[in-house]
Amino acid sequence: MIILMRLDATKEQIDQVCEVIREHDVEPLVLPGEDRVAVGIPAALTSEQRTNLESSIGSMDGVSKVTQTSRPFKLASLEFHPQKTVVTVKGVSIGAGEFTVMGGPCSVESYEQYRASADIVKKAGAKVLRGGAFKPRTSPYAFQGLAEEGLRIIKAVGEETGLVTISEVMSGDMVPTVAKYVDILQIGARSMQNFPLLIEAGKSMKPVFLKRGPSATIDEFLLAAEYVLSQGNTEVILCERGVMPLDRSYTRNTLDLSAVPVLKEFSHLPVIVDPSHGTGVAKYVGPMAKAALVAGADGVMIEMHPNPKMALSDGSQALTPDQFTNLMGELTRLSAALA
Ligand code: PEP
Ligand code: MN
Repeated sequence: MIILMRLDATKEQIDQVCEVIREHDVEPLVLPGEDRVAVGIPAALTSEQRTNLESSIGSMDGVSKVTQTSRPFKLASLEFHPQKTVVTVKGVSIGAGEFTVMGGPCSVESYEQYRASADIVKKAGAKVLRGGAFKPRTSPYAFQGLAEEGLRIIKAVGEETGLVTISEVMSGDMVPTVAKYVDILQIGARSMQNFPLLIEAGKSMKPVFLKRGPSATIDEFLLAAEYVLSQGNTEVILCERGVMPLDRSYTRNTLDLSAVPVLKEFSHLPVIVDPSHGTGVAKYVGPMAKAALVAGADGVMIEMHPNPKMALSDGSQALTPDQFTNLMGELTRLSAALA
């Protein structure tokens, strides 16, 4: 529910509305707008609570109208937060209009491999360096990542190159550790509904990069973001990375690019597309990255390895340094053409 105050509503009238909301055992959220204030109720209300609140608030002084929110997510919604969220990390703004490229290997494998990746990413003009130290692998026998040693490498390379770093955290108890080493916490597709993890990531107050689960609906995705936001952490970046495919013989997932305009319509959060996991095939990454830009995404996350054939994870979807550099050029030219 959102209570839209009149243009000339006074602070006392807004406070009174908040007071009445609290009397109904729910916490109000004051939403300052460009010309007028709205008061939101970020809670799932029973129909009885809704009717009672509507009748007690509707006729109060300073109230223009009471509207019901149509969606289950609140803090993640554009209705509650009409200004677009921009996440700024070390001077890099995500969601501010410039197309952000996050590049790097699937996994951090060694200092040399990661530093070489960072140099290629930086030289090509990308601002954010990806790389997993904790890897959620389907098989327990597959490379699991370098764990804390990988985090130390990420921190060192981030400091040496000035790139913004992003890496996955897989469990709530690891959030403080990962948060010490990286700039942006990634929550992987498989963890999208790990609610204790979402809560801890929210509490960390670090920017959170949330990947859509392979079978998550848009509502489920935005409600996962809501978990982070409800901890008071406003820095959430959404990532579309493909959903369960009908046919795995051609692509690993089905990149749901239609999610981009949908998320943009209903949420204020920046949206990044990951065509690497979205397709699983290096040669399809470029076309889908360009399509993501045209669809209105705020950026892409792309896997690139100095030598994909030697990659310890996701080599078949990793671009070579040359492919990555060429794609960066194409994206820059395409952005300019669209501007
Ligand atoms: C990754 O980014 O390497 C990763 C494991 O991604 P996802 O969670 O989308 O599978
Ligand atoms: Mn990967």
